[in-house]
Amino acid sequence: MAADQHPADPGSVVTETEPASGYGVFDLRRPPSAERIDDCVHCGFCLPTCPTYALWGEEMDSPRGRVYLMKVGLQGEVPLDKTFVQHFDACLGCMACVTSCPSGVRYDELIEATRAQIERNWERSPSERRFRRLVFALFPHRSRLMAVALLGWAYQRARAGELLRRSGAFDRLPPRLQALEGLMPRVALGDLRRRVPHVTPATGSTRRRVGLLTGCVQSVFFAGCNEATARVLAAEGCEVVAPPRQGCCGALALHAGEEPLALAKAKATIDLFSRLGVDTVVVNAAGCGSSMKEYGHLLRDDPHYAERASAFSASVRDVTELIAELEPRAVRHPVRARVAYHDACHLGHAQGVTAQPREILRAIPGLELLPIADPEICCGSAGIYNLLQPQPAAELGQRKASQVLATGPDLVATANPGCLLQLRRYLPPSLPLAHPVEILDRSLHGRCDLPGLVVDTAGPWSMSTRERRSTAVASCGGGSRSSAPPLCSCSFSEGARRRAGFPQPRSSSSRIRSRSSPSRRPA
Ligand code: SF4
Ligand code: SF4
Repeated sequence: MAADQHPADPGSVVTETEPASGYGVFDLRRPPSAERIDDCVHCGFCLPTCPTYALWGEEMDSPRGRVYLMKVGLQGEVPLDKTFVQHFDACLGCMACVTSCPSGVRYDELIEATRAQIERNWERSPSERRFRRLVFALFPHRSRLMAVALLGWAYQRARAGELLRRSGAFDRLPPRLQALEGLMPRVALGDLRRRVPHVTPATGSTRRRVGLLTGCVQSVFFAGCNEATARVLAAEGCEVVAPPRQGCCGALALHAGEEPLALAKAKATIDLFSRLGVDTVVVNAAGCGSSMKEYGHLLRDDPHYAERASAFSASVRDVTELIAELEPRAVRHPVRARVAYHDACHLGHAQGVTAQPREILRAIPGLELLPIADPEICCGSAGIYNLLQPQPAAELGQRKASQVLATGPDLVATANPGCLLQLRRYLPPSLPLAHPVEILDRSLHGRCDLPGLVVDTAGPWSMSTRERRSTAVASCGGGSRSSAPPLCSCSFSEGARRRAGFPQPRSSSSRIRSRSSPSRRPA
């Protein structure tokens, strides 16, 4: 990188535009609010939590600097030029500055307004425009993502990535293509066929009727997480309605300043879920949840949607929030695992949900929760940031991975598909990752098919011996009393196995050691 080049230089600016007529460099449509800007007293408390300030130590890449830039932009004292745009493009939108600001500066609203202004009033280079168009033509569309997943499956099966790397061709690819390749999760054809049932009835009496957003990336690459969400909510007494034809909620567009697309997606999502007559709309992807909670603000000027949008936003809950709200009903089986929990920024900072995921994990008997250093600092995922700004995203990803490894976990939990993909890229392949709800699902249902977890289905024992045995057989894939369950290497303690009538295999404690010890070694 050239010495005078900004580390997050989008390489995008070909011309300087004339300042739009309006407020300084901003046009008349929703410029960043002068009152919100004036809330900043320049105290600097936000600086240590800002990932870009931590990387580069540049005032203009700090929240305080960016708020100042908005102010001088509003006053027309700076042009809307390459430098101006660069500082906002480099922001991850992680909102760590919102939670750390003692003066209540709403940087979330300010950056949302500024990004939309930039997209309207700044002309990006043709290559930048093409790349952004490609991203938005792909990610919000489930069917197109499915086609990409199939290509990814073929690519992985042919070991094309290894060949590219061995030949040295991979290093010659543009950084953004390298990032796309590196973030592609392992694709299994069977997973692509998985769907959440349209309606999952509640177990026992129905406490709530909830709608489930299955998402775009989530439904294609993390279908297992959606299934686990429906199972957990059903076990806790919720009837779960997951409309089969769901569109994108608009989160990626909203966070990237693509306002018209975000507005259209928000309206479609409100229309879809309002028809279901549900009490609550549940989300298991932090980025989606945070934007759905913002619909009220986004659509505040729309006479047809303003009221409905704020009512809709008030009904949205992250799945961990809802589970924490409900009095636990289902039995938690012990899970033996050391779990490092990573706060997704759009859950922790944007939604203020930090205690609930930890609460539901801590409520699982036997599970040890490990704190990760600097939990407020972003992992570098930030929606499509790791595609648009691969270099700083990689630095943040590596930094987070080393902090995760320092905890010596058996498994890493985080509540956002973007963070799962980003951490997967920088953590050793032997260290499993999961959404907290997937861990809870295994505990509730005595399933031991999640790597890194050792579930004891003989656990607290409100079930009869017969029920226990059938649960254990069903969950472990065992079907014969004459042999050990073939797929399970963990779930029965010797006592439980004896009580359930299975012959004793080799010591389960030795298996537990052999499963958990490799992943505790930092790679
Ligand atoms: S903490 Fe808040 S008030 Fe202080 S500099 Fe940062 S944004 Fe401004
Ligand atoms: S949103 Fe994140 S990256 Fe952007 S200014 Fe705030 S703390 Fe820094």
